[in-house]
Amino acid sequence: MSEKQKINIVRFTKDLRTRDSESLYNAMQEGQPFVAVYIFDDRDFSSLEFGSLKTGRYRAKFLLETINDLKENLKKKNIPFLIKKGKTGDVFSELAERFDIVKIFCQQEWTKEETDRENEIRNVLPSAEWEKSYSQFLIHPLFVSKTMDKVPMLFTAFRQKIEKNLLIRPEFTSENLVYDKSGIEVRCDNVTLGLLGYEEPETDLKTAFPFRGGESEALKRMESYFSETRHLSNYKETRNGLIGTDYSSKFSAWLADGSLSAVSVYHEIKKYEQEFGSNESTYWLVFELLWRDFFRYISMEYKDLIFRKNGISNKPYISENDEKLIRQWKEGTTDSDFINANMLELKNTGWMSNRGRQNVASYFCKILKQDWRIGAAYFEELLIDYDVHSNYGNWMYLAGVGNDNRDRVFNPEKQAEMYDPHQEFIQLWLQK
Ligand SMILES: Cc1cc2nc3c(=O)[nH]c(=O)nc-3n(C[C@H](O)[C@H](O)[C@H](O)COP(=O)(O)OP(=O)(O)OC[C@H]3O[C@@H](n4cnc5c(N)ncnc54)[C@H](O)[C@@H]3O)c2cc1C
Repeated sequence: MSEKQKINIVRFTKDLRTRDSESLYNAMQEGQPFVAVYIFDDRDFSSLEFGSLKTGRYRAKFLLETINDLKENLKKKNIPFLIKKGKTGDVFSELAERFDIVKIFCQQEWTKEETDRENEIRNVLPSAEWEKSYSQFLIHPLFVSKTMDKVPMLFTAFRQKIEKNLLIRPEFTSENLVYDKSGIEVRCDNVTLGLLGYEEPETDLKTAFPFRGGESEALKRMESYFSETRHLSNYKETRNGLIGTDYSSKFSAWLADGSLSAVSVYHEIKKYEQEFGSNESTYWLVFELLWRDFFRYISMEYKDLIFRKNGISNKPYISENDEKLIRQWKEGTTDSDFINANMLELKNTGWMSNRGRQNVASYFCKILKQDWRIGAAYFEELLIDYDVHSNYGNWMYLAGVGNDNRDRVFNPEKQAEMYDPHQEFIQLWLQK
């Protein structure tokens, strides 16, 4: 019997990039043959939660584009990339029949579905070593644990502590590393939108997010938003906008699937500040990236409690279960034009501005008084940039069961007057 070839694996999950990829860097440094693997796990594309799909058509399309781009980028580095559709455990069983898998490089995860998948792999490969990275964060967990004993409940307290002596690691660059160890042939599945069970979504020309998935697009967008147009210098004034591509960075979808790293964005902001000057706007983008990290640290601390109706604050959340009201909210046929315009934007494009998200979530929780998790699950299906930490963190916040102890309610009419004074946004989505 011939001996199986010893290999390492780089398991891509939500770190779908080559620039600033810690796993790739570590695997290349190791100097052993390795295969990069991405699995379209069936459960992400079929199961329903609170009546919504785990992944809707917009994000599925964006993800496919991302994987195709990653494939091209890995090919340039001569790295074999196995793309499979199936169950994570089954794919690793198959791999283990052919290879002796010594070590797995991947990003550290802690939310339930992600750790369940990892456990499936551990069952199949009980003796494989794991080398994990925290490459989804801007601020490394070691810096956070040195700075504070416990992540505070309030963002401001977190930010103030973090901003003192803030230290961001340099990027991991594997550009100059040469990989010539492989020669391994892998047979990929030909994964298409149809195979995943979706129809191609129509592109709505009114979309504020006309971008494609993948690292190459992400880097292009960063260059465009930063040095090409210098929109970054006005970010603080424009960030509450509702229409068009440029009122905010639009980095979220790439940050969510890891085709863009928050650390790369940070260093590009610093470069920009050197070249074009720093101001409140350049600071504010870092401030928003700290919100992103904050919700990651909260989910790390509270684990599955972020999915509980009473949230992490364990404050009783009383809700009705009115299917008609829920349907009207989803369809954009409530009593409020501003809410409807935002919900139609989401339904037709997979995108909604931050201002819109705050309003529709507050409306769902505080005015319609429905179970916030139904709203969060609908966002999970529709949003191109869905991210478990940011989505559930923000929803809990607005439902009053998360990191905000004030019981705030957004008044959609006042919000519309303030942010859509000429009703251009409402007209854009409600005109027949
Ligand atoms: C109810 C609700 C649900 C949300 N769900 C998600 C989600 O699933 N995925 C997601 O990425 N964001 C979510 N957000 C946060 C925020 O709305 C989006 O990150 C932002 O609108 C994306 O646009 P942008 O990239 O142009 O942001 P910019 O304004 O350019 O901000 C830059 C980056 O900072 C981060 N950021 C900004 N605001 C927040 C915030 N409030 N919380 C966490 N990170 C933030 C994002 O990574 C964003 O890309 C949600 C907000 C609300 C109110």
